[in-house]
Amino acid sequence: QAKRDGRDRIGEFSVAQKRALDERVMLGGRLRDALRHDELVLYFQPQYRALDHELTGFEGLLRWNCGELGQVSPARFIPVAEALGMMPEIGCWVFAQAARQMREWLDRGHRGFTIAVNVSAQQVQHPHLVEQVAEVLQRYNVPAAMLDIEMTESALMENVARIRTTLAGLKSLGVQLSLDDFGTGYSSLAYLKQFPIDKLKIDQSFVRDLPADEDDCAIVQTIIELGHQLGMLVSAEGVETQAQAAFLAGLGCDELQGYALGMPLPVMDAERYFVGVRDSFLV
Ligand code: C2E
Ligand code: MG
Ligand code: MG
Ligand code: MG
Repeated sequence: QAKRDGRDRIGEFSVAQKRALDERVMLGGRLRDALRHDELVLYFQPQYRALDHELTGFEGLLRWNCGELGQVSPARFIPVAEALGMMPEIGCWVFAQAARQMREWLDRGHRGFTIAVNVSAQQVQHPHLVEQVAEVLQRYNVPAAMLDIEMTESALMENVARIRTTLAGLKSLGVQLSLDDFGTGYSSLAYLKQFPIDKLKIDQSFVRDLPADEDDCAIVQTIIELGHQLGMLVSAEGVETQAQAAFLAGLGCDELQGYALGMPLPVMDAERYFVGVRDSFLV
């Protein structure tokens, strides 16, 4: 077996590479039509205050219902869209969907919620991001404070000077800024200090084995303390059990998000979260 691996290594490597390239070309070709054919959908996952499980808002999560391929995960198609330079366009569509939904829910009498939108590394680097966001908020006439923009630490690593300007621009509009998947990227505490971040989202990999795993307990507790010391809110994602929810609330985590509290759902179904699906979780 070892001998075979050694002999075929280069061959297998190039086969794998070719497959990855084929997938990019294949997905990319279909992705170009996806926007036009309305195959992209924004799902909404509820976010709750940890203390009392009051709804605080939603995270918009992109879904691609491809006619030929079925539902394609964003983890699979966003890197392709990014490589093909399509994320500014797709991202713009996501912002518009989120703002339109805020307007619609406001018009239906819902109050006191935010919608979080994920942005990719290239979107953060895009020179017109601030104008795009401002335009979309104005178009749908929604308060900027209701929009929460999530970005990963890794997306903030390049062109730090430009990113500082971009984030300052977003803050001056009044939107909220969150650091997604916190703890998994190449985070530097010096950067954390420089950027106007409102919220840290603890990555789900640290939540999964709570409260049994002592290391994860220590990491999560430390992130919560760090965030609070820096004047930030701290949220946990990937909360799948009541034990995790209770443990995180006990540590002072501000917000919770995960399958235990609510799945990402299409708009029509997500509205039910306003009327307290959380109650079923509390019993
Ligand atoms: P993310 O922003 O960290 O989103 C959290 C992911 O965890 C989502 O996966 C969500 O469906 C999933 N999740 C939520 N609760 C639980 C739970 O309790 N357990 C587990 N195991 N998973 C949970 P999803 O929807 O597949 O999205 C994957 C990633 O794709 C997102 O990670 C985000 O980085 C990216 N993404 C999604 N939508 C967009 C978008 O509109 N724009 C950009 N740029 N990226 C997006
Ligand atoms: Mg996110
Ligand atoms: Mg995340
Ligand atoms: Mg993620």
